[in-house]
Amino acid sequence: MSSTNIPGSSQWAISDVLKRASPGRVPFSVEFMPPRDDAAEERLYRAAEVFHDLGASFVSITYGAGGSTRERTSRIARRLAQQPLTTLVHLTLIEHTREEMRGILQNYLENGVTNLLALRGDPPGDPLGDWIGTEGGLNYTSELIDMINETPEFAAFDIGIASFPEGHFRAKSLEEDTKYTIAKLRAGAEYSITQMFFDVDHFLRLRDRLIAADPIHGAKPIIPGIMPITSLQAAQRQMALSGSQLPAKLEADLIRAANGDEEANKDEIRKVGIEFSTQMAERLIAEGVSDLHFMTLNFTRATQEVLYNLGMAPAWGAELGHDAVR
Ligand code: FAD
Repeated sequence: MSSTNIPGSSQWAISDVLKRASPGRVPFSVEFMPPRDDAAEERLYRAAEVFHDLGASFVSITYGAGGSTRERTSRIARRLAQQPLTTLVHLTLIEHTREEMRGILQNYLENGVTNLLALRGDPPGDPLGDWIGTEGGLNYTSELIDMINETPEFAAFDIGIASFPEGHFRAKSLEEDTKYTIAKLRAGAEYSITQMFFDVDHFLRLRDRLIAADPIHGAKPIIPGIMPITSLQAAQRQMALSGSQLPAKLEADLIRAANGDEEANKDEIRKVGIEFSTQMAERLIAEGVSDLHFMTLNFTRATQEVLYNLGMAPAWGAELGHDAVR
């Protein structure tokens, strides 16, 4: 299923990119979200250039629920894939028929976008609410992988999936979560990217669970999703949306830094968040991960500060000409 170095483009299959990690050199990658307007989209392209200059192994772009944000995801993915940046596009099953999914995949193929993060998505409006399938659509990510496998021309896609250090919130048990994650890896997903987490032990237990369940497919790379916290409220909201919580000590440190006034003490909050992500990343590197995937919220500064602390990037500043995309 690998699309190594597509002719005429600078795209690498991410499963191949991951093989290039070595003990002394751990790559990093970044996640963007489709922004609201054209000005923010231009800033995203500049941020992508910054991360390219810093040596990012790939950039990913998430997929929203509404039509206009979906068009933006598609346009951004196509444009980034024309640049010297390996690009990963997220795709969900929400409100798509099988035929629509085929059309989207076909369009990506024609535009050289061949790295796909296959996802189910969550119900729009209430992500924790009941799953409502679309008539003529798919219900589980494994069905999307099967659909790709059944279509010979889709063999060019290099497929990644989501994994969940604490288990997916809809899974009845960690065993069930493991079973379905392994099923997707056996079906042809080459790696997974985790939901953001703040306790490295949870990541390590996920890795152990997958390898114990299937020493071959369960050993495929698991890329840790790291979110450098710069806002207490935003972090709490993000965690609630995924049915999870910040670890008590981290939350207490952030609340102490906020000292009752987030706005006035935002620098202190950032300091705690960046230091925490740095320590997490150091431990993950020592544990031999193949890549560090930063959820950037389309900003460069926090991620670059963590990379700087890790000795993987110069200090954040205006010298790269990206002061506008902090
Ligand atoms: P699935 O693999 O379909 O699993 C969904 C649930 O069903 C799980 O509980 C699983 O255990 C269970 N299950 C799986 N297969 C079966 C089966 N055959 N029978 C019974 N139960 C089964 N969402 C977005 O909307 N846009 C994004 O861009 C996006 N990007 C993400 C990126 C990452 C790195 C991560 C971790 C998540 C992302 N999400 C995104 C959120 C994701 O779509 C949700 O977490 C979703 O609820 C789960 O997706 P999945 O692909 O793991 O689902």
